[in-house]
Amino acid sequence: MEIIKVETISKSFGENEVLKNISFTVNQGEVVAIIGPSGSGKSTLLRCITHLELVEAGSITLTGKSMVKDGVYLHAEQLREICLKVGLVFQNFNLFPHFSVMRNITEAQIHVLKRKKAEAEDRAAKLLEKMGLQDKANAYPCELSGGQQQRVSIARALALDPEVLFFDEPTSALDPELTGDILKVIRALASEKMTMVIVTHEIPFAREVADRVLFMDCGAFVEEGPAANVIDNPQMERTKAFLSRLS
Ligand code: ADP
Ligand code: MG
Repeated sequence: MEIIKVETISKSFGENEVLKNISFTVNQGEVVAIIGPSGSGKSTLLRCITHLELVEAGSITLTGKSMVKDGVYLHAEQLREICLKVGLVFQNFNLFPHFSVMRNITEAQIHVLKRKKAEAEDRAAKLLEKMGLQDKANAYPCELSGGQQQRVSIARALALDPEVLFFDEPTSALDPELTGDILKVIRALASEKMTMVIVTHEIPFAREVADRVLFMDCGAFVEEGPAANVIDNPQMERTKAFLSRLS
């Protein structure tokens, strides 16, 4: 089943056409990595699919429900329902600094999903344990390392039971020795068949964890295919040039 279907979407900021007729699909349980140079439109693409930015043209269907069709958006209530199926983990964690770890993970469960506090806390405690952070429930974000904060933000996203998780460079704000923890968590989620779209600069990680790699440049996909093919044996000149700059 297609969890994400993006058809010929376009997005500009003023004169700057950032997404040019982009199309792609992601199937249930698939892990897709998006790689590409800085400024190529990767974050904007994730922000459009998660409804943090609006597209000007094209269609997006999430979990079988149309969010925008030919540039026309659904009504707010239906949109809200669709957006609940989608989790986004940011580069800079975006935790609420004045809330404890526990409250960061329970807040949306209680106010958006209308779960009872005890149920939300129970779910949060299980996720914290899964993230190896069971002793941090009462800590504040500033008391945690970057890697721990990122694991809290992953727990927060998972607490809402998303059908697909998006990661925008989840390790790029972390010291190299902390990125391993995040990669381990993502690897574990992949083995549980969580559908994930991961924008990353960690090429070896993309090769290992992703079923498919999309290479983006100047607002369009230049090349895509099984991770090993695209990364070890790129066909397009622009993909070759990008990968050789990184190695
Ligand atoms: P990437 O994530 O691949 O580095 P981005 O999606 O962040 O690329 O940016 C793509 C282009 O869109 C860049 O030229 C950037 O300057 C521009 N851009 C991104 N967000 C905004 C915004 N909110 N307002 C204006 N321009 C933006
Ligand atoms: Mg970006």
